[in-house]
Amino acid sequence: MDCSKCGADAITHLAYSGLHLCAGCFTQSVEKRVRQRIREDSVVPDDATPEEPDTWVIGLSGGKDSVVLTKILHDTFEQDPRIELVGLTIHEGIEGYRDESVDACVELTDELGVSHELVTYEEEFGVRMDDVADADPEGMAPCAYCGVFRRDVLERYADELGADKLFTGHNLDDEAQTAMMNFLEGDPRQIAKHFDASLGGFDDRETQETFVPRVKPLRDVPEKEVALYAHTENLPAHITECPHSSEAYRGEIQELLLELESNHPGTRHSIMAGYEQLAETAAGSLRDGVDGLGECNRCGAPTDREVCRKCYLVEAVDGEVPAQ
Ligand code: SF4
Ligand code: ZN
Repeated sequence: MDCSKCGADAITHLAYSGLHLCAGCFTQSVEKRVRQRIREDSVVPDDATPEEPDTWVIGLSGGKDSVVLTKILHDTFEQDPRIELVGLTIHEGIEGYRDESVDACVELTDELGVSHELVTYEEEFGVRMDDVADADPEGMAPCAYCGVFRRDVLERYADELGADKLFTGHNLDDEAQTAMMNFLEGDPRQIAKHFDASLGGFDDRETQETFVPRVKPLRDVPEKEVALYAHTENLPAHITECPHSSEAYRGEIQELLLELESNHPGTRHSIMAGYEQLAETAAGSLRDGVDGLGECNRCGAPTDREVCRKCYLVEAVDGEVPAQ
């Protein structure tokens, strides 16, 4: 098949747009969508200057998504002195998994000349995910603990590194899955929260005074295309799956969406187009607000309880009877 844009040999067919693309036109199209998303979300502030640049911390796991994100952000803003990039990698303490992906992060940031920070759960909380999965004091899936710890580290280090924004590599499939899960959960507050945390332009969000705002510039790019981009550009992405990966429900939704997508190309895009508008409306009328949040009496993080969820879980893993 010939590339729909330039006539060279196509390497992929994007069923939702009908385009066949060669390697060059494909990588350009991914980059274009990421840059367009950054523009539409007004991510670059008008008042950033070379003296006071906007600092963007990228959650860099070494998987294909965050590696592709780091590469495109670097290539786009390398010559722009108003933007400073920092890669932040979290080592959860998972034997035989995270060491290699940390290597991928170091290789990538060295090659691009992007500064890089590595943080471990062990140093931060005195726990490793392998031990958490064994102990499991709350009878939860490992990812439920891991997600709470990760959010805490990202939020705190983003603050420490002077981040104006926190970038994550969520792609279109991730976001469409989360949207579906939020629908099926039947809790519109969750949808409102999703909007305030990471969707839409910055002017429309409410939480940015309390939390470092999240940006997801890959959210228009399907997962398969992110993987193909990493492959085409020969990026050092790590692909092994975490041995504790346990998001069974998300897996079901993923399968469902892939089947819908193959029967009705464009489904993920239309889910997100409708969902984002709905989430904005939900946020406008249902947001809990952040004014009522107090501080965790252990670590000072914003929370609506006495002890935040992270401190509660760390104490539970340590075998203490946690404060409620
Ligand atoms: Fe943590 Fe689950 Fe991701 Fe493994 S799959 S790193 S346990 S969130
Ligand atoms: Zn706390």
